[in-house]
Parts: sequence; structure tokens; C-alpha cells
Amino acid sequence: MLKVLKFGGSSLADARQFAKVKSIVEADPARRVVIVSAPGKRFSGDHKITDLLYLCAAHIKYGVSCEDIFAMIRDRYNEIIAECGLHISLDKEFDALWDKMKNGISQDELASRGEYFSARLMAEYLGYEFVDAARWIKFKFDGTVDQDASYAALRSLAEDRKVVIPGFYGVMPDGHIRTFSRGGSDVSGAIVARAAYADLYENWTDVSGFLMADPHVVPEARTIRSITYRELRELSYMGATVLHEDSVFPVHRAGIPTNIRNTNAPSERGTMITHGSVEEKNPYVITGIAGKLGFSVISVEKAMMNSEHGFGRRVLQAVEENGLSFEHLPTGIDTLCVVLSTAELAPVRERVVKRIMELTEPDSVTIHDNMGIIATVGRGMIHNPGTAARLFTALSREHVNVRMIDQGSSELSILVGVDSIDFQPAIRAIYHEFVGGAEQR
Ligand code: ASP
Repeated sequence: MLKVLKFGGSSLADARQFAKVKSIVEADPARRVVIVSAPGKRFSGDHKITDLLYLCAAHIKYGVSCEDIFAMIRDRYNEIIAECGLHISLDKEFDALWDKMKNGISQDELASRGEYFSARLMAEYLGYEFVDAARWIKFKFDGTVDQDASYAALRSLAEDRKVVIPGFYGVMPDGHIRTFSRGGSDVSGAIVARAAYADLYENWTDVSGFLMADPHVVPEARTIRSITYRELRELSYMGATVLHEDSVFPVHRAGIPTNIRNTNAPSERGTMITHGSVEEKNPYVITGIAGKLGFSVISVEKAMMNSEHGFGRRVLQAVEENGLSFEHLPTGIDTLCVVLSTAELAPVRERVVKRIMELTEPDSVTIHDNMGIIATVGRGMIHNPGTAARLFTALSREHVNVRMIDQGSSELSILVGVDSIDFQPAIRAIYHEFVGGAEQR
């Protein structure tokens, strides 16, 4: 049994957090491979090490001294060393880094040092080996990861060992350090889990898993116990902030489950993300609700439209020619609606309408703005006839005017478009219908 663990920045913010990580790792002998982020904020208003490093890079770019910021970074690590009682000194490496910064260092290399130093300390603290990500995460020149080469390299470095690996970066074919986009340690962790044939990828953060709805809208939202990768994709597409997008792919493809856990509450089970058939059933018909505001609907009406060949293609041609991508495409008998982002539409609004008119000669083209789209996601809905009826009944009870309905044939989600003003009440109504708790309001 092998578990690969990734700890986010808040789990490494200071010596206290380091101690929690140690006890989590030591609680289970299967936890042999650990990926770490750079130390994050210790309290609100504090700085993440990565942000400070980017700040240094910006100072260097404009020829301004960043000595003070660099000293802050150094102090943070030294504090952890002292408080954890580590017998290690990073002084020489910090001096060398400072020299390099004076003589020119790339932004990526500088930003990557946050994870590098964090991993050095954690390896020392746990008594694990340190394996530098620069030795095995291999980027191609186009900036994507060379998966096979990286997997093979890691296997030769870490097989059957207890290791700590810095997240967030790898190496280009020419030897330069390259980072992922922000939050990229999630991706490193997923690649490690995949390379090491892990039985489980544990992603340790500061929340006990994903919530069924945005807590700003539904304060009593419960934690999702289990979710499939496909459901997760639907929820994150619709705006639920979850994992780094690219971190799902490697583990999903390999059938490795991901468990989101809370470093500050390790006894909680968190959310389990699985590949397909889930052993653990969810207690509710729905898995989660997510939504986004800021959509517009272009409705194109034309009598007998549905018997006209190529009508839809021509409408979409007008959309495509203006560099827009659409989100949804609900159709009626004589209407076709294109749902897209209001912000993207704004600069080309008139041009799109004009082009649709030219190409399709419709009876009317109207644009309706200020729409929010809500996705109710749940694999359980497939086997539960009447789910849609319950959902719409709940919405009508709250007097929510549904402007658009879209249910993919996968039956994994039901999408409804509502006016912005109805957005939050609609999410609450759906939540309370399927999960309960309306009486707590
Ligand atoms: N430290 C990096 C960031 O803040 C990567 C990570 O934490 O995942 O974006």
C-alpha cells in the first residue's frame, strides 16, 4: 500500500503546522511519499512565501532592491528550523541564491525556491530523503509535461523509498527551471501519485473537503463525502473552486482516488474523489451545486427554423467568426439560444447580432443579459426519476423564474439559467430541497 501526500501552503506555514504534518505522516506507514508547497499565510494579512518571491522578481526586473523582502523570506525558514529543532542550515544556499539574484535569475527559478526550501526542511524533519523536482518533472519546450519521461525518471529516483519532493516546478529540456501556474503543487502531487502507482493520493489542505455549495450562499453547506472525477469536473467548470485543473487528469486516468483532507482536523474523512463506481454511496441524490454569474443569452427566432438545414451551424458561425466560444446551446422548436459570457460578448455584441441577421435572416434576435447558470450535479440523479421535478418545484416555490434549462444526456447534471437576482435564492432552494436544513435558516 502506498499513499502519496501533498501538503498545501497553509499546512506548512510555520513550525506548528510542520508538526501537524509530521504526525499525519507518521500515523500511517503507507505515507511514504510527500510533496510540499511553499509556506503559506500564518494569519490573515500575512504573506505567502511564493508571493514574496514573485515580489522579489518584480523588484529585480525594475532594478529596485529587494533586500528586505529577501530577509523576510529567509527569516521564515530560519524560524521553522529553530522551532522544529532541525540540525540543518540553509545559510549557504540562501547566500548563493542572493548572489544569483544579483546577477540575473529567472522569475520561475526564483519562485520555485519556496517549494525547494520547504521540501529540504520537511525531509530533514521527517527523516525522509529529499528528491529535487528538477531531477524528474520534465517539461517539453511547449510548456507541457513530458508525462512518460517524468514518470520513468521519478520511479528510478524514488522507488521503494521514503521521500519528500518539492511541488510546483520541474525542468525544461535546456535545464532551466520552470513552474506550473499558481497552485501547481497539486499537479506535481498528482504526477507523483501516477508515477509511483499510488493506491491513494491525499491532498492535505485547510478545509475538510469540498462543500456541497458555496458557503457564502449556503452557510450550512455540508461536506461532499464522495464524488467522481466527472462530477468534480462539472462542478469546477461551473465555478466551484477546487483543485488545480491539471491535477485531476493524471490520477483520474490511472484510476487513483484522491482524498481531500484537512491538516488542522486530521480525524475528519474529507472528500474522496473516485474514478467511477463508488463504494461509498452519498447520502443525497445530488452531490453538489455550483453556479456562475455573468452570462448572456442570444435568442434567435425564426418560424420553421427546425426544418431549415444548417440554421444552427450558421448561428454558431457568427459566434465563431467573432472569436467567441459558447457555453450552452439550448434549442426550442423555432428558437435557438446561445449562452455565452457577457464580458466576452460585450466588445463584439453589435457585430455578432448583425452577422447572425445576415447569415440566418431570422424573425428576431434578442439578447438577454444578467443571467446566472446553476449546475446541480449528481450521479445519483440518473437512477432517481423525479429529480428534475423536485428541482423545478423547489424553484417555483421560491418564485424563481427559470429562463433556461439544459440537461446533458449524461444525466450527471441539470443546468438552469436564472436572472442574477434569483441566483442565490435558487441555489438555496435547490440545496434545501435535496439536503434539507431550510428550517435552520
Ligand atoms: N506555492 C505555489 C503557489 O502559491 C504553488 C502551490 O502552493 O501549489 O501558487
